[in-house]
Amino acid sequence: MRPTSALSFASSLITRSSSRKDAIGFIGLGAMGKEMARNLITKTFKENNDASFVVCDADPMAVTRFLTANTSLYPNRQIIPASSPASVARSCSTIITMLPSSPQVDEVYLGGEEGLLAGMVGARQGEETLFLDCTTCDRQTGVDVAKVVRESVPGGEMVDAPVSGGVAGAAAGTLTFLCGAESEAIFRQAETTLLRMGARAIHCGGSGTGLVAKIANNLALGVSMLATAEAMAMGVYGGLSPQTMAHVLNTSTGRSWSSEINNPAPGALKGTKSSPPAERGYDGGFATRLMAKDLRLALQAAGQVGLPTPLGVLASRIYDNLEKRDDYTNKDFSVVFKALVESAEIIKAQKLREGGGAAPEEPDDPVKRYTA
Ligand code: NAD
Repeated sequence: MRPTSALSFASSLITRSSSRKDAIGFIGLGAMGKEMARNLITKTFKENNDASFVVCDADPMAVTRFLTANTSLYPNRQIIPASSPASVARSCSTIITMLPSSPQVDEVYLGGEEGLLAGMVGARQGEETLFLDCTTCDRQTGVDVAKVVRESVPGGEMVDAPVSGGVAGAAAGTLTFLCGAESEAIFRQAETTLLRMGARAIHCGGSGTGLVAKIANNLALGVSMLATAEAMAMGVYGGLSPQTMAHVLNTSTGRSWSSEINNPAPGALKGTKSSPPAERGYDGGFATRLMAKDLRLALQAAGQVGLPTPLGVLASRIYDNLEKRDDYTNKDFSVVFKALVESAEIIKAQKLREGGGAAPEEPDDPVKRYTA
């Protein structure tokens, strides 16, 4: 992470001007993190007059955008940028991380002089620090990093607390946190902070179990989105409007979050209170690249315990292919519906050409990309 000169002084300013006990750090201000941090700031400032915040992201623009959107709302309170995770650790007793995946968690916690643990050198017993990692990463990373934290930081504890609920849930403060915490007491301590960003926190068990729960949930989500996309396309190609097909699914046994809240077919949820990414060209939401990553994590977890997951294997293959497409990788994972319709159109065009006796063209074939 490259500090900008303006940010380099942040750590010393924070250390001098506010108490570490009441300072909360937030690292990773992406699609989810910026909404979670906003809710956390709003609720914490209401409850604690001494609270202050330190925010950090590898992308300086993410920090600038966050400060621009939030600091003017609290003119007499401190929301300060930090140049590195180490500087966040020096200033804060509660630190939340919301990063893409395992490599970034390793880097932010253990990454040399700039990592969180480097910032804890010199920490004293009695100076408690609670790390809450909300990233969806692999279980082993969560377990290993938590162990290093417990063994090398006096008074240090780490909870894996990945979330379910998407960007809409993060914005509305209705997320569910799935927590792996070594004891009930540590879970309760974490819960106080987590419930300022969400509606519930579930103690799944010891370190790493929150990640197992999250990865299993996203295996179900990936498969259910594909099933919903296929069912919606079948209805539309069979002559139903997207709205009618969605109404059928959502009042029948095919209903799921993918059909009811995040329906992948544009127009399907018109007239309901849901406005899914399909209505905005699949912008926002849960990126296809992140679903591809979660399905790889699911296959890895299944492999480790010898569990066959044939549906997971197929879903993972489809999302790996979509992730490779520049036009899909950052779109919401419901964009799979668009890929499916494109495939259907290409098949139709090929059939027409063949029927008309035209020479088959070398196809730019999304079917292959979709299913190969
Ligand atoms: P994102 O890519 O939008 O945001 C990640 C942020 O982390 C970015 O701002 C990036 O600059 C920052 N970052 C990356 N490396 C960093 C580093 N080394 N140091 C500091 N900052 C760094 O991702 P997101 O959509 O916010 O998702 C975050 C996590 O939450 C992922 O693990 C994802 O699987 C999970 N998740 C996402 C959703 C969703 O709907 N987007 C839902 C549930 C869970």
